[in-house]
Amino acid sequence: TWNRVYNFSAGPSMLPESVLEKAAAEMLNYQGSGMSVMEMSHRSKTYLSIIENAEERLRNLMHIPDTFTVLFLQGGASQQFAMIPMNIMTKNKKADYIHTGTWSKKAMAEAKLFGEVHVAASSEDQNFTYIPEHFEFSPDADFVHITTNNTIEGTVFNQLPDTGKIPLIADMSSNILSEEIDVTKFGLIYAGAQKNIGPAGVTVVIMRNDLIGYHREDTPIILRYETHAENQSMYNTPPCYSIYMAGLVFEWLEQLGGIKAMEALNRDKAKIVYDFLDQSNLFTSPVMAKYRSLMNIPFATSSDALDEKFISEAGKQGLSTLKGHRSVGGMRASIYNAMPIEGVRKLVDFMKDFEMKNR
Ligand code: PMP
Repeated sequence: TWNRVYNFSAGPSMLPESVLEKAAAEMLNYQGSGMSVMEMSHRSKTYLSIIENAEERLRNLMHIPDTFTVLFLQGGASQQFAMIPMNIMTKNKKADYIHTGTWSKKAMAEAKLFGEVHVAASSEDQNFTYIPEHFEFSPDADFVHITTNNTIEGTVFNQLPDTGKIPLIADMSSNILSEEIDVTKFGLIYAGAQKNIGPAGVTVVIMRNDLIGYHREDTPIILRYETHAENQSMYNTPPCYSIYMAGLVFEWLEQLGGIKAMEALNRDKAKIVYDFLDQSNLFTSPVMAKYRSLMNIPFATSSDALDEKFISEAGKQGLSTLKGHRSVGGMRASIYNAMPIEGVRKLVDFMKDFEMKNR
């Protein structure tokens, strides 16, 4: 009745239908307030309970201890590329980056403006189809930065590098909340919302309290973690509606059984696609099996023309946004938390059918 498609976009991407329905039901009059969350003062009691509940739920889901601060910021993960060096690359003005694709490259470009960037390992030699396992860390690095899930290349760190006492900083934009992690292994975790958290506009930062307060003196006040931590993400008007939606997504995850249950489902979903790819005579996956992402699955046929035909015919079947990133070509199926397993099955059924007809 709704004519909704299975949307395989890398982000913004699908949201759980029940979340959208709840937001729709609450749109005109949020819980008797007589107004929409979009129209509400961020200083109102009603809104304060929305943001506090969102944080509380996130803390419970990810088991975030009190030694960590949770921030709801703006500017996307890309702004974090700059805020991290401005705020944390300040002692020795040096940081180690593990280079695993397009996003780590952009993160490094910002850090280079503020100090020395050392590439501790890179998978560029094989077109980012794997995750390095050997690292040359600098003993005097202010932090080590990784991109846990590489949205474009379709790779994931299954094992965290051991950085000893040096804080590990992770861009988790495309796999936060998709599998269980130990937050205490990190100095700082950040993620743009528009994949597993909610609508674009809010960026979640989870950081160790003792890393706050070491910004460069010339860091604009608005770009200091300290500013946002001291003001509970309310230094200025926060992205109110995105935070409200994130809270609903966290509630949905709780009801589903938390991250552990979500991870099991994500593993089942990804297995359906990879098992098919591995036996296919038409489709191939560029990523080494060991490093394959549960969230983003690039694949291709043997020709650009056939890829194009696939994307166009899939679209007509309600399998939307399967075009690969412009830098990689081919196809990419992003199957974040909110993609139902039925959508994944429908995709693979379609791939089987396409293969039979186009061999
Ligand atoms: N890092 C990763 C891993 C991403 O996937 C993206 C967006 N696709 C970004 C950073 C950039 O995020 P934003 O657009 O929120 O700045």
